[in-house]
Amino acid sequence: MNKGTILVIEDDKKIQNLIGTTLEISNYAYQIASNAEQGILKATSYNPDVIILDLGLPDKDGTEVIKKVRSFSSVPIIVVSARIDNDDKISALDEGADDYLTKPFNTEELLARIRVAMRHKNNNAEETAQSAVFTNGDLTIDYAKGCVYVSGEEVHLTAIEYKLLCLLAKNIGKVLTHNHIKKEIWLDDNGADSQLSLRVFVTNLRKKLNASNYIITHIGIGYRMLQL
Ligand code: CA
Repeated sequence: MNKGTILVIEDDKKIQNLIGTTLEISNYAYQIASNAEQGILKATSYNPDVIILDLGLPDKDGTEVIKKVRSFSSVPIIVVSARIDNDDKISALDEGADDYLTKPFNTEELLARIRVAMRHKNNNAEETAQSAVFTNGDLTIDYAKGCVYVSGEEVHLTAIEYKLLCLLAKNIGKVLTHNHIKKEIWLDDNGADSQLSLRVFVTNLRKKLNASNYIITHIGIGYRMLQL
């Protein structure tokens, strides 16, 4: 039985083969597109559960594909990038990608990211975003009351910590960039130390919620809440 359908948008034959073989032995169905145009077409016709997208495509930049796909679908997109530079990953995430992998990656890592993306999709992000109560492991957020509980015990958060937590929760499974978070939780704070203060808020939030296992740091990029 197949575990899901994956669309791989990648022009490098070697990596196509590597990903294809990995998906096959792990019982995923997949299709491959070798350029952006084909990828966008298959995203509509194949209707995959997850898209794996190379950012360096021959006809268009991968971020263009994200923009296009996001105009009609919220399918999880995992970006694959050869570049060590974080900037292209950050812009891909800001365009709506969910996660990223840096080449060269190992196949276990790829499969782990796919599992996270599938869980995220199955959890139905839209439903999560709209329901009145959010739960993840020991954590409960009652949006209507504005209260947060860990194992049933109420935890008192500052206004910014609460905003930050809600933002991570509503985007569970997704990597959120520093800029995205700062834009959402602070108005016009572009100070040089805002990254530092964000780190402090995340550290405090983690401590209060005992959440070091599911509020994850992506160094140089941002933060993510994992689905437990
Ligand atoms: Ca490429």
